[in-house]
Amino acid sequence: MMKLYNSLTHDKQEFITNEPGKVSMYTCGPTVYHFAHIGNLRSYIMEDVLEKYLRYSGYDVKRVMNITDVGHLTSDADEGEDKMLKGAKREHKTVMEIAKFYTDAFFEDCKKLNIKRPDVVEPATGCIGQFIKVIKGLIDKGYAYEAGGNIYFDTSKLSQYYVFNNFEEEDLQDGVREGVEKDENKKNKADFVLWFTKSKFDDQELKWNSPWGVGYPGWHIECSCISMKHLGEYLDIHCGGIDNAFPHHTNEIAQSEAYIGHKWCNFWFHVHHLNTSNGKMSKSKGEFLTVSLLEEKGYDPLVYRFFCMQSHYRKSLVFTYENLDNAAKAYEKLVARIAALKDDGETDPEAFEKLKSGFTEAMDNDLNTSLAVTALYDVLKADCNDATKKALVADFDKVLSLGLCEAAEKKRQEEALSANPELVAEIEKLISQRAQAKKDKDYAAADAIRAQLLDMGVVLEDTKEGTKFKIVK
Ligand code: AMP
Ligand code: ZN
Repeated sequence: MMKLYNSLTHDKQEFITNEPGKVSMYTCGPTVYHFAHIGNLRSYIMEDVLEKYLRYSGYDVKRVMNITDVGHLTSDADEGEDKMLKGAKREHKTVMEIAKFYTDAFFEDCKKLNIKRPDVVEPATGCIGQFIKVIKGLIDKGYAYEAGGNIYFDTSKLSQYYVFNNFEEEDLQDGVREGVEKDENKKNKADFVLWFTKSKFDDQELKWNSPWGVGYPGWHIECSCISMKHLGEYLDIHCGGIDNAFPHHTNEIAQSEAYIGHKWCNFWFHVHHLNTSNGKMSKSKGEFLTVSLLEEKGYDPLVYRFFCMQSHYRKSLVFTYENLDNAAKAYEKLVARIAALKDDGETDPEAFEKLKSGFTEAMDNDLNTSLAVTALYDVLKADCNDATKKALVADFDKVLSLGLCEAAEKKRQEEALSANPELVAEIEKLISQRAQAKKDKDYAAADAIRAQLLDMGVVLEDTKEGTKFKIVK
């Protein structure tokens, strides 16, 4: 049985779902106004590990993620410019162009980091009708009011608003929280906007008709609605970075539960921040740390994933190049040890189960990935045959997704080839003869060369960059 820390109850709890064997999981997606920084991606990596471990444990998981392409303002309060509009102005493009570009860039980064795409990905701008329906429902039930052209959620109607308990009314006092200005329309300081028709940033590009006038939704309403649209009124687990706990997730809970009239989500999974040695990670100040930047500096993105695995998701983590270098060295050594494993027969089921329990115990204890990595080293040190070790590495990597088997295979290839330059020369000669045969439209000869190489244990792959080969025996 898995135990997970639940931000709602402030303790580790047995992970129990509404429907046995099934998990409904929601993740706050990126605001697509810029590239994701590696801090954002730490959250997505750890959520990916959680999703994969739930699947590994036998759950049927449905995971939904929104794409924030409207409504996320530059301040957590209902002040400030829409981040999307700011991004569009910066790049002299339309908001939708910006959204498309950075959504694609986000999923490219995810691919490089072996982060699985959620089952459903839904942009906020595709769900405006849904938002309007829920806001109308909240007004009808007396939980929302119109003031100065905007629709606000009335937090005084709730018996408890600060569900995560860590925040006090004073934190919201004018000037105490950065960027908060007094909004005279609000009945209570904690009230938040569901729908804007009036904002001091009047040049909002995307606006829609609504019963309250032409305008656009607040940020929080999108996650409640997109989650309910795809996962219904009972959510098992909701994920996000720790900064989302307040006000974003607090507001999500307030409006969702007011709308449906019962408890909405049982577990809240928050990933703590990746910081720089100077403090908060930023897209505008200091070095803008992206996956592409790490690649330019010669790091494999999976080394960054490994770096994240080495610490617990509930501890903040400091990024330095020195720390990343250490992770790179450890990753390289790990791959070398896996590459050295022999094909020595059958796996030993008893040893397999025993060693696997080290991994599952670590993961069942609030997703302790650093101990899970230790369990991986324990496998390599264990007193069992290599086939069992290989099978265990492949098994753990279904969750850790460090590309260990692929990297080890690549290393084995490179070693085999560098030990045999004559073989490489022979293969390259045959590949160029095959290319010539294809040019001459002598396909029979080309196929014969491919077959000859296969007999030698060499498989060809034709790519845009030319023909590549792989030794399979
Ligand atoms: P955003 O694109 O700003 O909506 O944020 C995307 C995700 O990254 C959210 O879940 C945030 O909570 C999370 N996040 C933001 N900054 C960090 C950080 N420095 N470390 C980890 N996660 C972060
Ligand atoms: Zn959200």
